[in-house]
Amino acid sequence: MTSKRAITVAKGDGIGPEIMDATLEILNAAGAQIEPEFIDIGEKVYLSGQSAGIADDAWESLRRTKVFLKAPITTPQGGGYKSLNVTIRKSLGLYANVRPNISYDPFVKTKHPNMDLVIIRENEEDLYAGIEHQQTPEVVQCLKLITRPGSEKIIRYAFEYARKNNRKKVTCFSKDNIMKLTDGLFHKVFNEISAEYPDIETNHWIIDIGIAKIADTPEDFDVIVMPNLYGDIASDVAAQITGSVGLAGSSNIGDQCAMFEAIHGSAPDIAGKGIANPSGLINGAIMMLVHIGQPEVASKIHNAWLKTLEDGIYTGDIAKGAASVSTKEFTEAVTDRLGQNPKTITPITYSKKAKEDEEYPKMSPLVKDRPKPDVVRTLDGVDVFLCNNELTSDEIGKKIEAIAGPEFKFVVMTNRGVKVYPGGFPETFTTDHWRCRFNLSESNAEATNAQIRHLLERVEKAGFDWIKTENLYRFNGELGYSLGQGQ
Ligand code: NAD
Repeated sequence: MTSKRAITVAKGDGIGPEIMDATLEILNAAGAQIEPEFIDIGEKVYLSGQSAGIADDAWESLRRTKVFLKAPITTPQGGGYKSLNVTIRKSLGLYANVRPNISYDPFVKTKHPNMDLVIIRENEEDLYAGIEHQQTPEVVQCLKLITRPGSEKIIRYAFEYARKNNRKKVTCFSKDNIMKLTDGLFHKVFNEISAEYPDIETNHWIIDIGIAKIADTPEDFDVIVMPNLYGDIASDVAAQITGSVGLAGSSNIGDQCAMFEAIHGSAPDIAGKGIANPSGLINGAIMMLVHIGQPEVASKIHNAWLKTLEDGIYTGDIAKGAASVSTKEFTEAVTDRLGQNPKTITPITYSKKAKEDEEYPKMSPLVKDRPKPDVVRTLDGVDVFLCNNELTSDEIGKKIEAIAGPEFKFVVMTNRGVKVYPGGFPETFTTDHWRCRFNLSESNAEATNAQIRHLLERVEKAGFDWIKTENLYRFNGELGYSLGQGQ
């Protein structure tokens, strides 16, 4: 008999307590060797004045048990509240969000009977870095950060996952036809790492057509890896077309800790009615059992759950108007079937070898310990952003041109990325946010930060309000910045 494994459990908000009680009841009945430690997170904690939605002693439990079974929470509307999910993922380094999407035809109605794909979403970076600024009265900005180590970790994880789970193909989604540097890096790292896994087939789709293809022919996909925002959107589409968002579980994996949950939210519209489908959280808990080295219990629960669906026992979201059962009745039906296998759907046997800590190599040290690339970084110029709502583009352009030298030449001015000087079109719509690009003048071999400071003084003296700068670097001679549209 395995000794009991301490896990941290949060019942969450809305339908959270109902589906967590149901899930724990099934885990207990199946003989899961777990010792839950309950913590409070979510609405109550937010409203008590903790803007992160989680108290210090809850962190203590999470960092000690390193395994978190979490019900959905409600994030209060309005400013000042940080997303608890994003905070937990980033604080605990849970860089990989793994979301299997499987259809259970004909037991759960779906247009895609042969769907069995896994989305592996990068969980810490991209637009979810949460770095946003209002720069002018008219313009706000969100920084999209894609890093080489972050991309290496998630992409390597996707390939390792494919190998361990006997999957044959890994697809990458990005938008590198538009975002050549950020998404371009993700795609480039994908190509580099895929060369280390010759046994696995690979391909790449631009995100928009990629998601359209998931919605149309999901059976063409196996494992798909993508940056954070795209993964958030694609995985909800994928879950919904299996038949219901109420079915799928997900894991959030880091080198030290892991969090398991349903993919859906707290469903306040049906909270307290006793009709919620606990399947998403049950599936999250099954992933947790495999992770903590209890694959037999995981298989037992999974097969009982499949048998319940096969027997036509559905909560309202799946029954879609036909006869349905309550959360409690569904839970009892799964418990009654523990030890039984489905007849039509192939039963699942999780690997006996699966063990916490041995499951996957620790990606962060692996990535950190790689030799640092030998890169020569040179400063090519600077972009200076101005706030101005009084002058025309020609008026700004002429004044800026006059103060660019001697170290720099003024090459282009853009507004929302489009060239407006020299030679802009009168049709181009402009805001109060101007980007002036300065590159090296013929007499200057390499720019310095001091030269940029002097340039900014000249910009100020000419009567302009500069609001930010962005240095223009080359890395081993290659441009580290994009050209303005029309430049
Ligand atoms: P939701 O997923 O809670 O609900 C969407 C729809 O699906 C609703 O009609 C709901 O009744 C139904 N539904 C969801 N889960 C169900 C289940 N298990 N059984 C039956 N029906 C189910 O999404 P929402 O309404 O956009 O969000 C509600 C709240 O949840 C928000 O505060 C949001 O911030 C939060 N949320 C939390 C998480 C999380 O904690 N991981 C994830 C998403 C949303």
